[in-house]
Amino acid sequence: MYVRGVGPRVAEMLAAKGILTAEDLLYHLPFRYEDRQNPRSLDELKPGEMASVIAEVRGAALLRTKRMPLFELTLGQGRLALKCIWFNATYLDGKFHAGQTVAVYGRVEPSRSTSNLKMIQPQWELLPDASDDAETRLLEVGRITPVYESLGGSRLASRWQRKVIFNLLECLRGAVPECLPRSMLERLGLPAREQSLREVHFPPEGTSAPELQARGTAAHRRLIFEELFFLELGLELKRRRMRERVGIAFAATDKVREAIREVLPFHPTAAQKRALGEIVGDMRQPSPMRRLLQGDVGSGKTIVALQAMLVAMENGYQAALMAPTEILATQHYLAARKLLERSSRHYRLVLLTGSLDEDRKRVNRRLINSGEAQLIIGTHALIEEKVEFDRLGLIVVDEQHRFGVMQRFRLMKKPNQAEPDVLVMTATPIPRTLALSLYGDLDVSVLDELPPGRTPIVTRRVPDERAEEVWNFVRQRVGLGRQAYIVYPVIEGSKDDQPELDFSHDELDAEPPTAPAPRKAARKGKTADMLFKALEEAGSGTKRGLKSAVEMYEKLRGGALAGLRVGLLHGRLSADDKEVIMRRFHRGEIDVLVATTVIEVGVDVPNATVMVVEHAERFGLAQLHQLRGRVGRGAAKSYCLLVTGPRISPVGEERLNAMVRTQDGFELAELDLSIRGPGEFFGTRQAGLPDFRVANLVRDRKLLELAKQEAVRFANARVEKRIEAEGSEAERARVWTRLKEAWQRRYGLVEAG
Ligand code: ADP
Ligand code: MG
Repeated sequence: MYVRGVGPRVAEMLAAKGILTAEDLLYHLPFRYEDRQNPRSLDELKPGEMASVIAEVRGAALLRTKRMPLFELTLGQGRLALKCIWFNATYLDGKFHAGQTVAVYGRVEPSRSTSNLKMIQPQWELLPDASDDAETRLLEVGRITPVYESLGGSRLASRWQRKVIFNLLECLRGAVPECLPRSMLERLGLPAREQSLREVHFPPEGTSAPELQARGTAAHRRLIFEELFFLELGLELKRRRMRERVGIAFAATDKVREAIREVLPFHPTAAQKRALGEIVGDMRQPSPMRRLLQGDVGSGKTIVALQAMLVAMENGYQAALMAPTEILATQHYLAARKLLERSSRHYRLVLLTGSLDEDRKRVNRRLINSGEAQLIIGTHALIEEKVEFDRLGLIVVDEQHRFGVMQRFRLMKKPNQAEPDVLVMTATPIPRTLALSLYGDLDVSVLDELPPGRTPIVTRRVPDERAEEVWNFVRQRVGLGRQAYIVYPVIEGSKDDQPELDFSHDELDAEPPTAPAPRKAARKGKTADMLFKALEEAGSGTKRGLKSAVEMYEKLRGGALAGLRVGLLHGRLSADDKEVIMRRFHRGEIDVLVATTVIEVGVDVPNATVMVVEHAERFGLAQLHQLRGRVGRGAAKSYCLLVTGPRISPVGEERLNAMVRTQDGFELAELDLSIRGPGEFFGTRQAGLPDFRVANLVRDRKLLELAKQEAVRFANARVEKRIEAEGSEAERARVWTRLKEAWQRRYGLVEAG
């Protein structure tokens, strides 16, 4: 449709931002609101708070300091003044004139004299005066004004969007189609779509400011619910469709149970029993299993998976386990072999990883293809090497492989064969709400109990200067027959050549030499002083030296840990070398393993009781938790020592303190999620996390639960013959149409499985 204010040139700019339709524009919501009806006066401002102020320009100047140009704007209100400062902002020169009215928004900085408040890098907008047209004045002042992220430079900033969206809403008055049944909206107390769109952009007089900021108005809630409802409805349908597909109905006979009992080295925990029960329950169904096995590090997922694989093998099928790294695949292979040796049956195991030599790969592929190999353990190579299985019955994968596998396991089975069951394992404790939306198409089993006999891990922070004490402690523990890990953030040299490392976003480090956008700074709770410090550091060009695994391996071996058997493990070693090192560490032939995060996931050596992480402030919370999970796997008391450098960002502090405070993976995941937001938490695209237009998974958990509930109810209506209760025929048809649109556009490409 034609939208006033959008010509071909602008349309192109909008398209670059993903805004292709009038609807896209309407769902581009303000990210905050300014109350220009009752603006705050300067004497009400308190240092530290975020505030929006309307005041008159008193003066403006570009100051050239040694480091960079600073732009200084002085605003006044009666006798009070507010000073605004922007870094590197030559572009602001000449934009302001005394007497103009300006709205600024930013953090109020403490300042020595109370009569002179300061804002660093506030957002600003010149307010219209009598010379501007009536429409502009109507939309800009004397009301709750929406503030938008720019859709293209200063041209498509807030002012432009207010006008275009206002006009668009006028054109569409009475014509915005509703996409949810009226009965549902009434039941939930949510307003109609058109009204909601109008009110999120132009809130009626008297709308509560805190509710607006928190996106908690009825209008916001309606639009957020709408988005989440269609996500959940789509996931629900996928689940149902999966249940209609032809899978394998495995039998769980006494013979199968006996086979499992033979190899089980210990009594399973109640949680393990429950999870296995759920898994086997699915496996017996004639539809393919799609289940997530979730459990904190050390909760014993591997053995549960192995039992499920035994069920498949005992039914005459092949089972495959895909691990995220070669080290892990090898470890699983060795562990499985050891367990299965206890069995009177002779299972044939095969390892397939990318770095095996071609001959071995060929032989193994043939074993897999002929069906001789019953249990196949490997890395991504299982997909990449175009292996065709003889009778694939069950695939166990870790979370990272999920998307690759779901799309491609059809290549792994022979045509005309039933679809294998899939069990996804994750050691990332995922907050329930996220599990709901991320894995909404999977059923979930949770291991919420650790195997018995574990003692809590003692976690301590240790500043760099006291490293000597750490090494003494390591020596002492090794003297008692224990083993230790020492982890570094890099292999050697700079971090650029190590793409496998997932650095936590260290704010100080990531800062470009110019000041960051003010909103980001505000979100991270940074004060102006820190900003200055960051600028100083960035400007001074000092590079912080990072200790690396290779360098420290040499240093420790010849110094603080001389006489101990020290090994080195990192991602650049060949698979064979890695395997040799891991094997020796397993056997206790290495006392101290100096490593990078390659040991992060799943490595299991119960005799290792000390985990030292150097530059701990540089690691993400999930990573630290995973690393700590490498110890405390036996009954012996374990230690995690987080060695930190001198400069730690506030967020880094928060992470380290959380690690010391709790060992609960779910609690840490919740915190991580709230620090980083869902996008970074999962690495958006890779995890298949849809980008939401209005919803935010951290903020909108309650609505997500509600959306899920409603989606199930809506999908059930047909089955339960309650159709009328869930809307008229026409309303239901609109829901389905809308679902198709929403999924094609938003989630359609995410996953085909
Ligand atoms: P996860 O994969 O969930 O991190 P693992 O499967 O590697 O955990 O198990 C952690 C450790 O606990 C392993 O050494 C494993 O042998 C042991 N373990 C698992 N289940 C039990 C149990 N029920 N009783 C005793 N030890 C167990
Ligand atoms: Mg494991």
